Amino acid sequence: MTQQPLVIVGGGMAGAMLALLLRRHGAGSVVLVESHPLTLPEAPPLTPSFDARSTALSAGTLAVLDDLGLGQAIREHAAGIGTVHVSRQSRLGLTRMSAQEEGVDQLGVVVENRWLGFVLLGALFGDDAITVRAPDTLSGIRRLEHGYQVSLSSGDVLETPLLIAADGARSKTREWLGISARDHDTGHDALIANLSLAGPHSGIAYERFLNDGPLALLPLPDQRFALVWTGPRSQVEQWMAMGEAEVMAELQSRCPAEAPRLTGIGERQRYPLVLTEACAQVVPHAVVVGNAAHTLHPVAGQGFNLTVRDLLALAQTVGGSDQPGSLTTLQAYAQKREKDQALISQASRWVPELFRVQQPLFAHSRQLGLVALDILPGLRSGFAKRAMGL
Ligand SMILES: Cc1cc2nc3c(=O)[nH]c(=O)nc-3n(C[C@H](O)[C@H](O)[C@H](O)COP(=O)(O)OP(=O)(O)OC[C@H]3O[C@@H](n4cnc5c(N)ncnc54)[C@H](O)[C@@H]3O)c2cc1C
Repeated sequence: MTQQPLVIVGGGMAGAMLALLLRRHGAGSVVLVESHPLTLPEAPPLTPSFDARSTALSAGTLAVLDDLGLGQAIREHAAGIGTVHVSRQSRLGLTRMSAQEEGVDQLGVVVENRWLGFVLLGALFGDDAITVRAPDTLSGIRRLEHGYQVSLSSGDVLETPLLIAADGARSKTREWLGISARDHDTGHDALIANLSLAGPHSGIAYERFLNDGPLALLPLPDQRFALVWTGPRSQVEQWMAMGEAEVMAELQSRCPAEAPRLTGIGERQRYPLVLTEACAQVVPHAVVVGNAAHTLHPVAGQGFNLTVRDLLALAQTVGGSDQPGSLTTLQAYAQKREKDQALISQASRWVPELFRVQQPLFAHSRQLGLVALDILPGLRSGFAKRAMGL
């Protein structure tokens, strides 16, 4: 086992999760560098990852959290998803995916990112072999014969056999590694907020394809929904500027009739939907993960779930390895993850596009798509299994 620590740059959802998984799968020591302060236990952290959003965690992600001993803590502050209800504005065609049909207790759960951060960071701080350097920032890297020298803005210098870039879509580490990235600006933004409801949501998540873009209502504890409402940037700007009564009326008119009535909206925040894809994910002694590797459209809540499957495979491949930075080892990891990444990235890119196109032929085929999903349990089941990360 190597004596030098594995170094992760970025202590967001991906970096924090990876540090824990690497330890679980045999890594001797890990250093996590995060540019924002990470505080515990007084207050849940507020960083670019652990912010006001909520995340739908698939059954597969929950199983990984269970293995880390964290599943219960997450479930205590999460709402289960029993059914996903998919519909299209003012059209026929509706499908439901249900836990019962899949033979599982839940399709997944929805948790607020702040709580997810609180649980992950609690576990990080509880492991003496994980050193958290926050706030501190990567200020430069230098290639050594058997790894990288990593300089931090605090003035500290570390040496590592494996440098992991988990510093988000605009990753500096990726850039310094000489790995370029492709950006696709959708021209759309996502507005997120928490909503209070007049009645129980009964564990139903709603995914609604509107002419502007998809809208998701995800169940949260205490009779609330987490809203992800996407649309053209100028349109989202208007929704952000509206008074509460006006924006509630706009939103209510777009919600499926089956969903409980909305009674209030919390603080609104917006995220530009720029989809990023790294041109390579591994080079000798370095690997790129999370948003730094692939930033997806939030349409089906797949970004973090896909990342967790990557991180598990990476930890299993390099965690106990004597040569975690060997290109052969890293390439084996990349190859293992290629198919799943391609499928999910393409689906989350093309599904919103397909539903946006207004031509009658497309309108007809996407309607048929929803109807087919509803009529053919096998098709729906395959879709649900993939979304559950199973
Ligand atoms: C509106 C919205 C809703 C979503 N909903 C879901 C969902 O329901 N389910 C799901 O699976 N996914 C969802 N996602 C995707 C999910 O949020 C991402 O997969 C996740 O945020 C990726 O985390 P990350 O740690 O890779 O990147 P980030 O969250 O960007 O974190 C990067 C971290 O690196 C730090 N950093 C940056 N530069 C440096 C540096 N030089 N030195 C040190 N630290 C640095 C930053 O401060 C930050 O903490 C959603 C995304 C959006 C936008």
